[in-house]
Amino acid sequence: MNDNLQQLAAMLAEARRIAVLSGAGMSTESGIPDFRSAKGLWQQGLRLEEMVSIDYFRASPEAFWQGFKQIFHTKLLGNYQPNDGHLFLAALERSGREVTVLTQNIDGLHTRAGSSRVLELHGTLLTSSCPSCGRRHTLEYINHHELPLCTYCMDVLKPDVVLYGEAVPHLEEAFDAAMDADLLLVMGSSLEVSPVNLIPVEAGRAGVATVLINYTPTRMDRVFDLCVQGGIGDTCRALAPVLAR
Ligand code: NAD
Repeated sequence: MNDNLQQLAAMLAEARRIAVLSGAGMSTESGIPDFRSAKGLWQQGLRLEEMVSIDYFRASPEAFWQGFKQIFHTKLLGNYQPNDGHLFLAALERSGREVTVLTQNIDGLHTRAGSSRVLELHGTLLTSSCPSCGRRHTLEYINHHELPLCTYCMDVLKPDVVLYGEAVPHLEEAFDAAMDADLLLVMGSSLEVSPVNLIPVEAGRAGVATVLINYTPTRMDRVFDLCVQGGIGDTCRALAPVLAR
């Protein structure tokens, strides 16, 4: 184990209340590409911010769904499984620690892995809801209908992901969880997306120990007490002995 990993193992062994902020890099080892890999999909002359926005959904729901399904094609149809990173966090919770996961991901894999305290800051791809009556519809239903309509009132459904122009849910709760923790662990995020990227800044200011596990350096590295550069799977497998402590 290198020095950084040993330091992280010691911090984890001590921490009783842990907040984890996860990004797209958390799920790449489950086969889901991160943000940048998907950029080739933004096409038709529209930018991502326009195609996946609440204004576009309201103005042209049919064109919105066509673009949305194209952009999220792999994620909508794939049967993805949690990887060793998701499973490690669930095991950390089972070991008796309080673990709150704040995730920017919309794939539902933390919950599937067994984590019970998950705040989905960008919503979920697994359901869509009716803007009129609020009824939820499953991913299977969405995949079977080119233009998914509410089975009750026939209104066009809206994906339960947070679209550009919509408020981020659970944000205050997420900041509180990070600031009340002994340790904030950020995993697989470029920390380019605001306001979520302010969570480690505020936690650090509140005196919470902060660690980043990421393949590549980010513009926010300097706000962390410790940066572990590496893969999430390898890192979590190396940290497994901490679970017994
Ligand atoms: P990002 O794509 O901007 O950054 C991902 C980071 O993770 C990169 O810095 C990369 O080096 C790192 N990384 C990739 N695989 C890794 C691994 N196995 N181990 C360690 N590091 C790894 O992602 P972001 O910061 O989450 O922002 C992207 C936005 O796109 C978010 O808003 C998110 O909601 C959305 N998104 C979600 C998913 C998903 O649900 N799985 C996938 C793609 C994008």
